[in-house]
Amino acid sequence: MSDLSDLYQEVILDHSKNPRNKRAMENATRKAEGYNPLCGDRFTVYLRVEDGIVRDISFEGSGCAISTASASLMTEDLKGKPVEMAHDVFDRFHKLLTGDNSVNETAPEVGMGKLAVFGGVRRFPVRVKCATLPWHTMETAMQGEEERVSTE
Ligand code: ZN
Repeated sequence: MSDLSDLYQEVILDHSKNPRNKRAMENATRKAEGYNPLCGDRFTVYLRVEDGIVRDISFEGSGCAISTASASLMTEDLKGKPVEMAHDVFDRFHKLLTGDNSVNETAPEVGMGKLAVFGGVRRFPVRVKCATLPWHTMETAMQGEEERVSTE
């Protein structure tokens, strides 16, 4: 199992040092800011959603290795996915980190791809907020457009 932990650590280190999709997005349809005062992580998440699909997702800001890697891996995972599926991934990611797998008989990390690396964060409650911050911010951004759309 220690080899597996090393691999997990490697993925987190890689994404924190070379974050993917870390840029502002000029043609974003939705955007939200998130802040974790416990650690000082602060991110803006940009989304371009068209026809219910996440066409593009990016982020800006700064935070610790865990939050930066989480934001980076989130953008990689959600790009091209339908909005509904993005909510679903968020749900599963949250369960993976909080250790609540009561609704799922299989281990929560199954089918999570690279996001499974955050399963180890569960053991460090203080870090859970770091890992989930980009996701909560993404959810807030998603909700923003739903409101806008309903007025059209
Ligand atoms: Zn943090």
